[in-house]
Amino acid sequence: MIIAMQADATPEEVQAVIEKVSEVGMRPLPLPGGDRTVIGVASAIPPDLREALTEMVLALPGVDHVAQVSRAYKLASREFHAADTVVDARGVAIGGAAIVVMAGPCAIESREQLRAAARAVREAGGRILRGGAFKARTSPYAFQGLGVEGLKLLKEVGGELGLVTVTEVMDQHDVEVVAEHADILQIGARNMQNYPLLVAVGKSTHPVVLKRGASATLDEWLLAAEYILSQGNPNVVLCERGVHPLDRTYTRNTLDLSAVSVVKEISHLPVIVDPSHATGSWKHVPAMSRAAVAAGADGLLIEIHPDPKRALCDGPQALKLDAFARLMEDLRRVASAVGRET
Ligand code: PEP
Ligand code: MN
Repeated sequence: MIIAMQADATPEEVQAVIEKVSEVGMRPLPLPGGDRTVIGVASAIPPDLREALTEMVLALPGVDHVAQVSRAYKLASREFHAADTVVDARGVAIGGAAIVVMAGPCAIESREQLRAAARAVREAGGRILRGGAFKARTSPYAFQGLGVEGLKLLKEVGGELGLVTVTEVMDQHDVEVVAEHADILQIGARNMQNYPLLVAVGKSTHPVVLKRGASATLDEWLLAAEYILSQGNPNVVLCERGVHPLDRTYTRNTLDLSAVSVVKEISHLPVIVDPSHATGSWKHVPAMSRAAVAAGADGLLIEIHPDPKRALCDGPQALKLDAFARLMEDLRRVASAVGRET
């Protein structure tokens, strides 16, 4: 249920609605924004309470209307929030007019490696530096990342170059330490349904990039976003990174570009695309990046490496730094053709 206040409702009137919702044992979630405050009821309302609560709320001064949200996910749905959400990542707007490119190595390996990648990001006009410190690897024998040492390098290099940073958090107990060192928290595809982790990042105020699980339906993905939103963190960015392919001969996953267009219709949250994990091959990253921007994506998450052959993780899909610079030029033209900025 959503309760829309009149545009001129006073803070006291909003407060009275919040108290009424709490009184009947439901959790109110006020969302100031646009031209009016909207209060979501972030709990499942028992059917016998629904009608009574609607009547009680409509009787309060300052209330404009009450609407039911038909989807399983509520706070993530367009029905709940008609306007596009723009997430502010330490001054970088994600979901606004400009396409936002986040790029960097799959895994942080050394200060030199991260610095070289970060310089390339900045010189090409990228605003956000990615780099994994806690790596979710399929094999327990593969490089698992530098951990807190990697986080420290990310903070140092991001600060040096004035780049906003994003890195994956894999464990609910690491949210605090990751948030101390990075500006944006990433939830990996493998953890999209790790509910304690979603709750933990929902309690943070940091923006969260939520990757789609490789086999997740759009509803499952949006319900995962709902876990974060319902904890009070409105700063969720969805990331399509490819789904399990029919054929692994040529690509690692299959980029579901229609998901971008569909999710932009059914949700107000920004949607970005990761063409690197979607294809698994640097050769196909430029084409899928251009296609993602043309399809309406709000940004891209791209793996780059100064020397992909020596990369400790995901080398085959990492763009070399000069190829990344050329791609950024192409993206400027595609963005402008579809009415977006870079
Ligand atoms: C990553 O971005 O480093 C990563 C591990 O991606 P995914 O969770 O999409 O596999
Ligand atoms: Mn990777």
